[in-house]
Amino acid sequence: VKEPLHSAEGRAEGDASVLSVRNLDASYGRTQVLYDMSFDVAPGECLAVVGESGSGKTTMSRCLIGLHEDHSGTFVMDGKPLPPRLRDRSKEVKQRMQYVFQNPYGSLNPRETVATAVMVPLKHFYGDRGKAARAKAQEALERVEIPWRLADRYPAELSGGQRQRVAIARALACDPSLLICDEVTSGLDVSVQASVVELLRTLQDDGLSMIFITHNLAVVRSIGDRVVVLSQGRVVESGAVESVLIDPQHPYTRGLLADTLEVDRPDPETSDLPG
Ligand code: ADP
Repeated sequence: VKEPLHSAEGRAEGDASVLSVRNLDASYGRTQVLYDMSFDVAPGECLAVVGESGSGKTTMSRCLIGLHEDHSGTFVMDGKPLPPRLRDRSKEVKQRMQYVFQNPYGSLNPRETVATAVMVPLKHFYGDRGKAARAKAQEALERVEIPWRLADRYPAELSGGQRQRVAIARALACDPSLLICDEVTSGLDVSVQASVVELLRTLQDDGLSMIFITHNLAVVRSIGDRVVVLSQGRVVESGAVESVLIDPQHPYTRGLLADTLEVDRPDPETSDLPG
């Protein structure tokens, strides 16, 4: 049994979810791209959201983190209504929902060193500075197996896998109740992907709840407890990972499953250095 990292204080009775999403619609101007999405993330669970390019994964994660405002629906986090817009969210709410996404620097600022990347949110959320911040940063980096000797490096001096680990350490330092991982393994060599997934699994075993967003159903096999399959902005199938993978009900899911036989191509930008 996985214990959540956070107590259930203030949680409405009967609502055991870390995050509940109900009837999420999202648009870009007149074009609707998400239709009536609903899902829950249970404490300590990894919910995988899988869909092809253009299915709406990025829009969904931007809605959750409050960056895509053109949407409707309700979010409840830790039993309390979650304001849809980032600017309306309290510091505590922001601290409790952390995210890591894919970009050439693995969601790190190219001008910040490893140590700074992890210490900036510590200062912002907890007012930690100096030795206290350094100790916490060191601890977070240890959890992701990044040695302190890399603390002064810039993202460009790290491998793709190391960058993602540092981004995960920065999120962990904030002590989140939910970690949103958006395509965090994309563009990494297959062996590096596996090591990042293994790290996330370890964190999940420690009680961290996660949303793992990916186009790759094969990765879901190693990380997800439940999966939501997204096609053209709609949830076409959801359920326990093993049952969806063994017996997919929707033709779209069956197509995705067939595609997993093809190996994900590594991105030469980020895969030239060892993980
Ligand atoms: P995914 O992350 O699964 O690739 P996206 O959320 O990026 O999917 O895209 C979902 C849909 O929204 C697609 O049809 C895409 O073309 C459209 N879309 C994404 N960004 C914009 C934008 N800035 N303006 C208009 N349409 C967009």
